[in-house]
Amino acid sequence: MSEPYAIKMPQLSDTMTEGVIVSWEKNIGDKIERGDIVATVETDKAIMDVEVFREGYLSGPQQPVDSTVHVGHAIAYLVASAGEVQGADAAVPAETEGDAEVEAAPEAPKGGEPEGTVHHVKMPQLSDTMTEGVVVSWEKELGDKIERGTVVATVETDKAIMDVEVFREGYLSGPMAEVDSVVAVGGTMAFLVEKPEQVVREGFSLSGGAKAESKSEAPAAPATRPAAAAPVTTDSSVAPAARPHNKPATPYARQLAAQMRVNLNNVKGTGPSGEITAEDVRHARPVERPTEIAEQVPAHVMPEIQVPGHGRAMTAMEKAVSHSMTASLTLPTFHVTVNAKPGALIKAAKAKGVSVTVAIAKACALAMQKHPSMNWCYQPVDKLVERSNVDIGMAVSADGGGLVVPVLRNCESAELEELNEAWKGLVDRARKRRLAPEEYANPTFMVSNMGMLGVSYFDAIPTPGTAAILAISSAGAEGMPLTITADHRVVNGAEAAMYLNTLKGYIEQPEEWMGPTGPAIPEGDWDYDVVVIGGGPGGEDCARDLAEHGIKVAMINDAPFPGGECLWRGCIPSKAWRAAADRIRDRADDAHLGVEGTTKTKLDWAKLEQTRRSVLETRGDMALKTDKGVKIKVIQGFAWFESDHRVFVDTSANADEPHARQPAGDGSKGEHITFGAAVIATGAPPFVPPIEGADKGLASGGVLTSDTVWTLQAPPKRLGVIGGGAIGMEMAQIFQDFGAKVTLLEGRDRVLAEVEPEVAKQLTAVLNDEPNLDIHTSVKIKKITGKPGAMKLAWDDSEGKAHTLSCDYVIMATGKRPVLEPLRLAEAGVAVDGHVIKADARCRTSVPHIFGVGDVIGGYMLAHTAGQQGRVAAATLLGEDMKYDQDKDSGVIFTRPQAAFVGLSAEQAKAKGIDAVEVKVPMSIDAKAMINNETHGLIKIVADKASHRVIGVHFLADHADTLIGEAVMMVSGNMSLEQVAHAIHPHPTQTELFGELARRLLSRLRRSKKVKA
Ligand SMILES: Cc1cc2nc3c(=O)[nH]c(=O)nc-3n(C[C@H](O)[C@H](O)[C@H](O)COP(=O)(O)OP(=O)(O)OC[C@H]3O[C@@H](n4cnc5c(N)ncnc54)[C@H](O)[C@@H]3O)c2cc1C
Repeated sequence: MSEPYAIKMPQLSDTMTEGVIVSWEKNIGDKIERGDIVATVETDKAIMDVEVFREGYLSGPQQPVDSTVHVGHAIAYLVASAGEVQGADAAVPAETEGDAEVEAAPEAPKGGEPEGTVHHVKMPQLSDTMTEGVVVSWEKELGDKIERGTVVATVETDKAIMDVEVFREGYLSGPMAEVDSVVAVGGTMAFLVEKPEQVVREGFSLSGGAKAESKSEAPAAPATRPAAAAPVTTDSSVAPAARPHNKPATPYARQLAAQMRVNLNNVKGTGPSGEITAEDVRHARPVERPTEIAEQVPAHVMPEIQVPGHGRAMTAMEKAVSHSMTASLTLPTFHVTVNAKPGALIKAAKAKGVSVTVAIAKACALAMQKHPSMNWCYQPVDKLVERSNVDIGMAVSADGGGLVVPVLRNCESAELEELNEAWKGLVDRARKRRLAPEEYANPTFMVSNMGMLGVSYFDAIPTPGTAAILAISSAGAEGMPLTITADHRVVNGAEAAMYLNTLKGYIEQPEEWMGPTGPAIPEGDWDYDVVVIGGGPGGEDCARDLAEHGIKVAMINDAPFPGGECLWRGCIPSKAWRAAADRIRDRADDAHLGVEGTTKTKLDWAKLEQTRRSVLETRGDMALKTDKGVKIKVIQGFAWFESDHRVFVDTSANADEPHARQPAGDGSKGEHITFGAAVIATGAPPFVPPIEGADKGLASGGVLTSDTVWTLQAPPKRLGVIGGGAIGMEMAQIFQDFGAKVTLLEGRDRVLAEVEPEVAKQLTAVLNDEPNLDIHTSVKIKKITGKPGAMKLAWDDSEGKAHTLSCDYVIMATGKRPVLEPLRLAEAGVAVDGHVIKADARCRTSVPHIFGVGDVIGGYMLAHTAGQQGRVAAATLLGEDMKYDQDKDSGVIFTRPQAAFVGLSAEQAKAKGIDAVEVKVPMSIDAKAMINNETHGLIKIVADKASHRVIGVHFLADHADTLIGEAVMMVSGNMSLEQVAHAIHPHPTQTELFGELARRLLSRLRRSKKVKA
């Protein structure tokens, strides 16, 4: 075997396109005999062995466990002798026997390699996304002797400038890539030759003197290239760290914490329900205080001034303060002040039974999560200590005079109640001067509250070891001055100002982090306790919950019936059309089961429309009766704010027609209504971007939106759809199923931005295979012209080639955007964030007694999201603790097959620091799918590797709208893979796939753990 032999990902089933490495059964360097099993891989169906029918030694580069590798790509190599064995991270060999599909290494330089070459210095892949690098500098000269581990050059990757190390010995030789030239990953940058006399000194460039523009020749980095290995591996001989007090931690996180000596109480968990993951531990700081203290060199020598009189010797504490204050003169400080209104915090602290001082400390620590540098400090010489534990020193008057500064530890992670208990003990001991050294040493931040003493303004002095101190003065008309004095070597003025503004937010709106401290409906003589503006899913669910709790609630809706967009122009009418399209589609598959005589269908549009409209009207009428029955005062009219406790309800445009969106009124008729609290649930109509001709088309009716498509008198024969979101995709396929030739144009490079990438990609391919549906992405729409029935759409494709589409109508499905101006939000002081109303997870706006729910606050614009947020707002108004959690939200796109999701994709989970694994099954292996000819798509489960909790389930499958119910319970109930695996699913149903997937993933995790151990 002259060249390494590539062991490739085998195709172990006919549907398999890729596999996951589950375990390596042999180690790098092991002698391999014919027929040996070297690895196990997970296919789309099962975990299977990879056998090798050659002899040799297992060599790198080797794909790591858990990586996904395409069929035919190399997973490791066999070499002829033990001496040729390469490590797991070695570069892909230049030529590989039996490896046609593995891309070839870049060509050798034109001039050929110098005589005596022992090594090619190649452009390394220094990040998983890097495909090429720019030579920044050569750190060694031609002819230099190179030892193993020498840095020979620096290169700029897509992320940073990094060193190129060489792990061979030899003499650096040309031809050498020029500084500033671009070299593809794996491309040769220079050579090492055996002897000094073999060094080639002329010819500074590779590739014939041109700059090394080897981009096009670059071997694509293997699609499966693993992310950089985690720096810490577990050592099972170390006992896991103790469970943290206030949150869960995964067993792996505890193991790592023990090894890395990380205090889990100080670590913020980013896993489900705040659980600490291994990734959190890796990012955390060790328990120890910094030990790298430079030798004490006085920054300057203070002159000792001769002072008359007979001084007494200072006490130890006075001396310590004196020295520390003198040392603080070395800090280059500045001051920044912001005023905050403390009323809400004082009230909330009282309601929770905690001291205001502790509540302020907690608010300071929370604000530091957004501005961490406030908690760092300067360490001589020229070092910064970046800390994640927030230990706040706060002065207490000691009995007999003097100030003592106990330190309240772990303010960032400990619960408010715990901190309050700790503080009580500290104050008690501080008063008696009985603090232990660890109770006053090393604060990371300081707070000085002279406001209690009636001081209207002051600033305080930070001590070395902290970057900043907060001075709290007493509240005046403008509020309470909060002054930060900060060390400019660590924090700049803008950071301090931003920190203060975040802190001000936490002080003025404590419910956001302390939870409700009681009902949020202000007391007063209002017409209604709560007015809900908008009668869609968000407003109606909110109003019903409030009414059921005896709250006097008015629901103001500008339509004659509730239901909003969902009932009248959205979910329900579109699913009526979808149901008819399903019937047509399913009939076409009848022949597959031998059912004859049913396949020729004909759509009676008038009948379908009659059914659709009657369902909407029946549902609208039922909803109105229920609303009135539960004692909601339903008011028809368009509301706008006159103050933060009063709206005007404009009834001038009230109409009886429920199907169309209501026209705008002129304010000539209506009533003024006062309220204690308000909930804005006004939705988001379709948004039409400024495309030439779009407005004219809207006016003529040739361009339709999701508001107006319902006026069609017959389904179009040729249709253009702009926008590949849920609405565009659903409409495109429905009209194709009704017989139209449909072209869908999407500006972005993919459709369905909210859907898991593989699901969206497969759906695009499936729909593109349909006879009369074309999807084009990365397009640019240039112009729309024509009249209804004869429209023209000019567009450029992804390569800039111009096209014109002739169609009967254009559906503009380019998103939804709230229309906020008519609400006159400024009159109530409600802040907006871009195009939507700003609201927190409890659906509170910037005004504590005004809430925003549903489409009007952005995020997922879905009916069930609006409904959930309506219930969250109602709960918060009632004083209950409830939050909307997007990470557990779900959605279904009603195409065939349906795309659906609940929870996080692996990509989203990883972005949140969760060590996620996924397992998937193609629908093509399922018997029921085969029977029904519904074999397109897949189901995927995403789980937290450490806790085994299911954090996401993703579908491209017919019947996903039903199957997702179980997945929603898995994610919302924090179910584990074990629970899903052990559940008894009935046969033959597609729910069995969930158990199958869970068991398969557990088996993979078990095996890879065993091998690692
Ligand atoms: C074609 C289409 C298909 C869809 N399919 C689905 C689906 O399958 N699943 C899904 O979950 N979602 C779907 N949606 C989205 C869903 O319709 C919305 O997300 C949902 O209706 C939002 O609810 P909402 O309560 O926030 O607002 P809306 O339902 O828009 O309700 C707001 C109500 O407030 C009224 N209003 C506005 N301003 C005022 C004012 N100042 N005073 C009084 N009244 C006012 C409006 O007229 C409206 O009646 C679809 C949308 C469309 C367009």
